[in-house]
Amino acid sequence: LDPNAENLSHTDRDIERVLRPQAFEDFTGQEKILENLNIFVKAAKLRGESLDHVLLHGPPGLGKTTLSNIIANEMGVGIKITSGPVLDKPGDLAGLLTNLEEGDVLFIDEIHRLSPIVEEYLYSAMEDFKIDIMLETGPNARSVQISLNPFTLIGATTRSGLLTSPLRARFGINARLQYYDVKLLTTIVLRSADILKTPITDEGAYEIARRSRGTPRIANALLRRTRDFAQIKGTGSIEREIAKYALNALNVDENGLDEMDNRILTTIIDKFKGGPVGLKTIATAVGEDEGTIEEVYEPFLIQEGYLMRTSRGRECTEAAFRHLGRAYSHKGHT
Ligand code: ADP
Repeated sequence: LDPNAENLSHTDRDIERVLRPQAFEDFTGQEKILENLNIFVKAAKLRGESLDHVLLHGPPGLGKTTLSNIIANEMGVGIKITSGPVLDKPGDLAGLLTNLEEGDVLFIDEIHRLSPIVEEYLYSAMEDFKIDIMLETGPNARSVQISLNPFTLIGATTRSGLLTSPLRARFGINARLQYYDVKLLTTIVLRSADILKTPITDEGAYEIARRSRGTPRIANALLRRTRDFAQIKGTGSIEREIAKYALNALNVDENGLDEMDNRILTTIIDKFKGGPVGLKTIATAVGEDEGTIEEVYEPFLIQEGYLMRTSRGRECTEAAFRHLGRAYSHKGHT
């Protein structure tokens, strides 16, 4: 009998939930952030207060939603989850806010995409735990102020640069998640494989980790796909060779870069001789938003040593030329 059969019917989303750490101690990496959050949570609990509002920023898949759930768990409160684009009207937000119990967490994903009216409506809720609601319409319309239970707003954003300063100022706790190094990702892959009851070697996990673009969500997704290959083409166990085979078959970049990463590097090298070239020019050439390149793509490319920010613009490093199989042209930094 196939030991993994019970997992095969899970959808990816179910699996993502199963793999989601539930407590601070299950969460790998982001040590500084965790240490601080742990203190803030303990202190709030000691005082019997709700936790201060928390802003989590960083690229997708690094654990913002996971951390928010953990915070609610550790506080021993409920969590309601929504997202910026979903909250269309102040009424939608009012409905959520008035249903929060004391100390609950309201998680708003993509908080930079709130409409300005909804955002303004949020201010008094965050600050005084009060909102105005409109009763009736037309000539009888009037607004009444109602009190809310104290709650914790956790906002998550991939684009902190798009947050208005009044909103940003209302968060007492502010944390930026970092990409994970290969060692941490290996730990995460091993943990996930254990939960999925998939046999795996350290080398197999490492092979997946180093191609996961510093991102746990990608690591877990690659683990699931590799598991398929191991079951059908291998022994069922994820070892180095089958992991390599699977990741090549899946066309996963040797260094974990994604299509846009490679497009950015290729553009700078082929069209602009490796740079330096301005961010705006790159954005136009690759057809992606300037801010997204700056906040989502660049941090990883810089961290991995493919790209440099100089006073004259962005410049590809020798590693980028090598990665793309181009001859490195060192341009007179003598
Ligand atoms: P975000 O909200 O930042 O886009 P998520 O919190 O949804 O990211 O995380 C994506 C997936 O990655 C989750 O299913 C979770 O299992 C996994 N994950 C994220 N961070 C960690 C971590 N530090 N340790 C283990 N798994 C993690």
